[in-house]
Amino acid sequence: MDKAVKPIDCIIFGGGVAGLFALDKCLSSGIRAILLESKSLGTGQTIDSQGIIHGGLKYAITGHGAKAASAIKDMPAIWRSCLAGESKPNLHKVVMRSDFCHVWRTDSIRSKLGWIAAKLALRTKPIVLDEDELPIALQGIEGSVARIDEQVIEPRSLLEVLGRQLDDHILQTVEGGVEISQLDDGWLVQLLNPKTGEPLDLFAKKIVLTAGSGNSHLRSMFGLEPDKTQVRPLQMVMARGNLPVLNGHCIDGAKTRVTITTSKDYANRSVWQIGGQLAEDGIDVLPEKLIKHAVQEIHEVLPNIDLQDIEFTTYMTTRAEPYARGNRPSDISIIEEKNVLTCWPIKLAFAPRLAEEIVARISASPNEEQNSVVDFASWPSPNVALPPWETDQPWSTLETAASS
Ligand SMILES: Cc1cc2nc3c(=O)[nH]c(=O)nc-3n(C[C@H](O)[C@H](O)[C@H](O)COP(=O)(O)OP(=O)(O)OC[C@H]3O[C@@H](n4cnc5c(N)ncnc54)[C@H](O)[C@@H]3O)c2cc1C
Repeated sequence: MDKAVKPIDCIIFGGGVAGLFALDKCLSSGIRAILLESKSLGTGQTIDSQGIIHGGLKYAITGHGAKAASAIKDMPAIWRSCLAGESKPNLHKVVMRSDFCHVWRTDSIRSKLGWIAAKLALRTKPIVLDEDELPIALQGIEGSVARIDEQVIEPRSLLEVLGRQLDDHILQTVEGGVEISQLDDGWLVQLLNPKTGEPLDLFAKKIVLTAGSGNSHLRSMFGLEPDKTQVRPLQMVMARGNLPVLNGHCIDGAKTRVTITTSKDYANRSVWQIGGQLAEDGIDVLPEKLIKHAVQEIHEVLPNIDLQDIEFTTYMTTRAEPYARGNRPSDISIIEEKNVLTCWPIKLAFAPRLAEEIVARISASPNEEQNSVVDFASWPSPNVALPPWETDQPWSTLETAASS
């Protein structure tokens, strides 16, 4: 091999939650790895997500997906330990939205059975709350409310903390600045430094694709079929203003009617991200119409919330997954072809388990090869993506929405 070509064990494409956890696990397992990011860390799903460390409650209660509930049930304990700084990666600096979620139901007849099913299926059991234990947002509602120990993190903070810890191994790339060729026992990846224009040629035995909706295009670049992927879009609603803190789901029959999480914006206003069935049904609906529907839903499921001075907007986003005929996959997925691993966590909560499975498929170089360590210090690092409520978009109050 040409001496200018630097050997490395693994190159990861895509710095969302999946790529960052995979990079961390590779490095702590003695695997020489770098991560390439073409935009900002977390662009796409991670920054748009609601940050709930699911343990399967939604799936268990709605009775749809015992397999999904079982696959994810160990995740809250793994994350709790990292978020407390007791396991690697150390995430104790990550900003938390909440230490638990609330779940409330509008279908009183089925609710008891739902809680029992959830208690049987889950490691983190729902605790049904008395009236005097309810948070302000849920006071006075009809139907039962439970608390579940599913933590809610601030995704931007997670990206910042992991990005900082792994900075020396994360390289910014630019469109047209990456070329790929297949060699006998691995891949030649040729990069251009976006700051200096200098070339860098790397040889990697394994490639990991954790680029979310970018996986499809990357698979074509590696000569693999792009159509093993699917996307399921969502139109999420956001509300900002004087709103109480609420993190949780309203379940109605077999559906998650709304999922609401609370963050703060640059002006210290509360921001609600509102997803669930509303966002699934909203993909072809005009934003003004979806906002009206969201307001109606909030009046019905949270009758004590005053929305008078609250501003609303929506954002389009998507879930990138392995092909499953448009249905929700129930577990992580890794497709391995020609030393390329195409990976999907399908949930942010699954990132630690996906990283374990990725590393189990990669071997570290023998010691004598370790001498050729490459120093990437002069290479620019990517920024972290902006959350959807900090990007430029029109917000409207109930009054302006009604007149449109
Ligand atoms: C609205 C919404 C809410 C959600 N809420 C939750 C939740 O509460 N809890 C939960 O567990 N899950 C949730 N999810 C799912 C979760 O967000 C995703 O499963 C997870 O974030 C996927 O992470 P990822 O790293 O695979 O992909 P992404 O976060 O999409 O990251 C992909 C990265 O790859 C980069 N990239 C793309 N193309 C290239 C390329 N050619 N070269 C280099 N880099 C590239 C992108 O810029 C990006 O940084 C939610 C998803 C959505 C859409």
